[in-house]
Amino acid sequence: MEFDSKPINEAKKFKTEAHSINLYHTPPFGQLTLEECEDLFRQRIEALALFERLSDVSGEERHATIASSLREIKSHVYKGNCLLNLKDPKQSKLDQFSHMLARIFCIYQPNQWEWFRSCEKKLMSYRLRHDYLISGSQLESILNSLNFDFERVQTPELVDIRREKLIGWNSRDKDNDEIFKVKFVDAIKFIARRAVSLKDGYAYLTRTEVLSVVCDAFERHLDREFNYGRQHLNLEHPQIEQLLASLELVFIDFQEKINEEEKRLKRNVNGEQMNPFKIDIDDIDDVSKVHFPPCIRYLHESLTNDHHLKHQGRLIYGTFLKSGGVDMDTAIEFWRREFTKKIANDKFERDYKYNIRHLYGKEGHKKSLSCYSCDKIINDNAPGPADKHGCPFKHFDDSHLRTMLVKHGLKEVDVESLFILRNDKDFKGACTQYYKFTKGHLPTETVRNPIHYYYESKRLETHPPGETDVQDDQDHPEAPSGDDQSKNPVQSDYADINEDMMDDF
Ligand code: SF4
Repeated sequence: MEFDSKPINEAKKFKTEAHSINLYHTPPFGQLTLEECEDLFRQRIEALALFERLSDVSGEERHATIASSLREIKSHVYKGNCLLNLKDPKQSKLDQFSHMLARIFCIYQPNQWEWFRSCEKKLMSYRLRHDYLISGSQLESILNSLNFDFERVQTPELVDIRREKLIGWNSRDKDNDEIFKVKFVDAIKFIARRAVSLKDGYAYLTRTEVLSVVCDAFERHLDREFNYGRQHLNLEHPQIEQLLASLELVFIDFQEKINEEEKRLKRNVNGEQMNPFKIDIDDIDDVSKVHFPPCIRYLHESLTNDHHLKHQGRLIYGTFLKSGGVDMDTAIEFWRREFTKKIANDKFERDYKYNIRHLYGKEGHKKSLSCYSCDKIINDNAPGPADKHGCPFKHFDDSHLRTMLVKHGLKEVDVESLFILRNDKDFKGACTQYYKFTKGHLPTETVRNPIHYYYESKRLETHPPGETDVQDDQDHPEAPSGDDQSKNPVQSDYADINEDMMDDF
């Protein structure tokens, strides 16, 4: 299929984009098959959805989410990396094609325009701030192509404006070596916040501020192009009709995926998702003996014996129960049932209920907590004399550990092999072997989180592996990778549970 720009932009003055970032002034020329168009369009909107997700994340999670989302973009979206590697002319052209396809689709479905434009702006912001080291001359080139009236402040004038203190000197000092003069109308948002200085109708902006202005101008530029396209694109042209029919199917598919994802997240947030392995509080004494890892089993036994747990123990056990599907109200009643065997209900309400609500993200910083990982339990907050938390393989003394293992039914020879691993400081390896000695099968991967241990154990109970699934002869079996995952029912089903029903580790 030929994808010709003339119907869209014939009268437009084409400009050479000397910088490496596409501003999409000029539609690309070339031929694409319908399938290639569909593929590029799908990749673009999926990438934009990822960038949209990035901007919704805040606080402590932001950094980790940005890093993981970028890995996702780089590894799965745009197999040729054309979203981020615009220095390669071929990749740059693919980027232009995919942008233009999405733009054409929005002309056909104008109610999608706002979403598309705002995501494109986020992508542009990312490119300008994180993915490129834009030189001063490249920035000038970008400003030129966006028709900015600007001037880069030269050294003598820089000295003068510093003397006159026309620009800020504190937080913006690091930026102050590169100052741009732009017409005040282009810097209105900074002027409104009294964040920049003005002289003779010009605002003095740092590089960071200029990049922000560029993103705003890019957004306006997209609006102009969109309106131009709406006036000139002939939607009834047979080739365009055929293209739009294909893109619409891609978009419907994309929306269905997004809706499913939103429903899944909503169900997770409300704790309503069907979880076949959800911890049943009414049955918890028996369940803890069979399916809880030693650290959590010990916390449960301590709680039911002493009717109390100190703060760290409550946190570790509480987050474990939460990740095991226990909703907040049930958790509160569970803790109340145990604590009020020793303290008055008023005291429980006053001193302990708040902490449970906090853990579910209903109080304080409103951040829902997930089950602590083994590394965290092993390495942080070593237990004091009255504490019950910690990893038994690390924190128990020899006699305490031996007593516990014998009580759990391990043979003497197995206990000795666990002590060898413990003495080598391989605590998770010891726990993985403990799993094998108590269940007859190794888990599909080395234990790394108590809730992982629990789900693995429940899964094994429901679907015991056949002889060929078991990898008993390996000390530390690795999970099958890539396509092999589908061949291992235990692993693939567990992966679903891991993703859909458990919190992030
Ligand atoms: Fe608990 Fe992890 Fe230690 Fe096992 S290795 S006992 S799951 S902390």
